[in-house]
Amino acid sequence: MTERVRGVRRWGAPLVAAVAAATVTMVVSPTLGASATAPSPAAKAAKSAKNVIFINGDGMAAAHREAARLNLAGLDGQLTMDKLAASGQLTTSPHDPKAVITDSAAAATAWATGEKTYNGAISVDVDGNPLATLGQQAKAAGKATGLVTTAQVTDASPAAFFASTANRSAQDEIARQYIDVSKPDVILGGGEDWWLPKGTPGAFPDQPAEDPAEGSVGTKGNLVAKAEKAGYTYVTDAKQLGKAKGGKLLGLFGNEEMFQQRPEGQGDVYSPVVDLPTMTTKALDTLHGNKKGFFLFVEEEGVDEFAHNNNGTRVLQAMAQLDRTVAIARAYVATHPDTLLVVTGDHECGGLTVEEATDAADESGTGVSAEDGPFAIQGSDKQFVMDWTTSGHTGADVPVTADGPLSEQFSGKHPNTYVHQVLSRILAPRH
Ligand SMILES: [Zn+2]
Repeated sequence: MTERVRGVRRWGAPLVAAVAAATVTMVVSPTLGASATAPSPAAKAAKSAKNVIFINGDGMAAAHREAARLNLAGLDGQLTMDKLAASGQLTTSPHDPKAVITDSAAAATAWATGEKTYNGAISVDVDGNPLATLGQQAKAAGKATGLVTTAQVTDASPAAFFASTANRSAQDEIARQYIDVSKPDVILGGGEDWWLPKGTPGAFPDQPAEDPAEGSVGTKGNLVAKAEKAGYTYVTDAKQLGKAKGGKLLGLFGNEEMFQQRPEGQGDVYSPVVDLPTMTTKALDTLHGNKKGFFLFVEEEGVDEFAHNNNGTRVLQAMAQLDRTVAIARAYVATHPDTLLVVTGDHECGGLTVEEATDAADESGTGVSAEDGPFAIQGSDKQFVMDWTTSGHTGADVPVTADGPLSEQFSGKHPNTYVHQVLSRILAPRH
């Protein structure tokens, strides 16, 4: 709760709620042919909305939220992400000739462009043609834009909002497009290896002990130098981030992801150089002043990566950081009612269920499908286990919760492309 208090003070006193001088638009019903005088509540909300904070718990679906709820808030408690005003569900299947279950690239493309595509595609259609992205459209509409993630800043989910490539692995090309084309004002996360050419280690040494496979591999020149030339303040640790000023910010806090994703006890580390709440607070500080509003994409990647490793302990750690981050965004919305906040996941990961810790007759075996835990339930002497059924993604629905203008649009069950439909009304309005 300290973040919330800090957030409120930081961003000033509550704004007087939408002074929206009741502009009356004529609404013509195609069926009745008659005209009505009152604008729909949704149309009004879209008009007064200026900012969007979109938060992705990568790989996060209902069971990840439930495990975190029990562990962090208790049997009768609620995560902050579950306290948001509106709630619904999204389906996530891609349009892929070979796949039924989505990856992060196709899922984020659905959000960012409203188009279903193949796995691995970064905002290109099934034929490989580039699509307009919300990040670029928001910029064109005069908004400030930003992305914050514990993955590589060029990883599939943020990339789909700010770049177009036929293959998600072209992360140096994605970084180049950030600096040359889409120009997000705030870029914070991992992935330094893609910004620097081979032989230029940067702030994070090549071949570190915790993962000797890491090292600079960029093929687009020194993109950090290019970013600085383009006016970005470049930072590599928490102290520098805290002191950074100016409207354009590039922070790279790791060679690849900002953690080491491994099975439990095999070198798994979740201890980001700068945590997600801190990065998100700085991003809001930086984007906040823009008169025409902003779009901020925020992602906790640890949920997905540790779910791939069936590592419940680390998934819960990542979920805790994600929920602290949601609390910061929610505090911002409380003082800035012209902001839509959306929290969801791009797909389920791990085929996770939450089960009794005391069921000796359970059918779970060893290896990938083994039970994981037991884990404590906050404020209780009871425990639960997390049971994984796969080390991959599944087609289970993802919950979506939202606060602020248009949030009620998320009630019901929709395909993931629906996110684009709602967000574009604020970020890419058609006049
Ligand atoms: Zn994944």
